Amino acid sequence: MKIDLHSHTLCSDGVLSPEGLIARAIEKGVDVLAITDHDTVAGLAPAQQAINAQQLPLQLINGVEISTGWQQLEIHIVGLNINPQCPQFLQRLASQQQARLVRAEEMARRLEKNQIPDVLPAVLALANGAALTRTHFARHLVSIGKASSMDGVFKKYLGRGKIGYVPNNWVEMADAIEWIHDAGGVAVLAHPLKYKLTTKWVKRLAEQFAAAGGDAIEVISPQQTPVQKRELWALCQLHGLTASVGSDFHQATTWNDIGKNLYLTDDVIPVWANWPLQGNAVTPA
Ligand code: AMP
Ligand code: MN
Ligand code: MN
Ligand code: MN
Repeated sequence: MKIDLHSHTLCSDGVLSPEGLIARAIEKGVDVLAITDHDTVAGLAPAQQAINAQQLPLQLINGVEISTGWQQLEIHIVGLNINPQCPQFLQRLASQQQARLVRAEEMARRLEKNQIPDVLPAVLALANGAALTRTHFARHLVSIGKASSMDGVFKKYLGRGKIGYVPNNWVEMADAIEWIHDAGGVAVLAHPLKYKLTTKWVKRLAEQFAAAGGDAIEVISPQQTPVQKRELWALCQLHGLTASVGSDFHQATTWNDIGKNLYLTDDVIPVWANWPLQGNAVTPA
């Protein structure tokens, strides 16, 4: 069974529509897919409609990826099996979207001071109603020749401490875990090795995530070595957490695709251990 519990659509910074993402997941043989857009659940209903209308053999998990603050860092918490209709949850996500808009305005001002004018209208047009992310800024800056790659833009303009970077006012990590629980979901610490933390700090993060009521760690995410996967599972065991897997798919690249290389070994307890999965098996292929 192929399970991928972290992916993005046009509703945040992915490149495929919810329907397009579903079609690609089917093409890649994915059986269970969570859509986890940044601070929005807008992609879930159209995705489920596409599945129903075509009676596709794919189970959609209602998800979200919340940007949070912890110790001056930006930490991403994925919520799985949340109720996307919960009014309180929707209101809470709306506050995150508002923070995104305010941040975008300030980012545009800072870029303007550095001789890059008219960024905000371009970014708003690119986002076209989606959650406003730094990815949209990056795509625009690449398109006007400010850098040759997305990575280059983050290194030069948008990464922490760079001229276009604005420190965020996201929800605290512990509060986001509570938001997810209040909406009926489980909270997953996303891509723990992407925050450029030392091993000591990764351990501290996992410990405080667990202490705040977190449920699972993404043990499998792209570009991790087998040793790193084992170390993350060891952290899960230490703190009584389960393991999640996710491609963090935004668009197909040579090294990443939806549902690709997301294998857990048999000794690992997956986050879906107690879920009513529709397929015959509950272990990944
Ligand atoms: P935001 O949530 O608006 O701060 O945007 C963060 C998003 O930017 C992440 O979810 C990634 O999709 C993207 N991102 C971050 N760093 C990079 C990078 N070095 N290259 C390409 N995309 C990146
Ligand atoms: Mn993203
Ligand atoms: Mn993330
Ligand atoms: Mn993501």
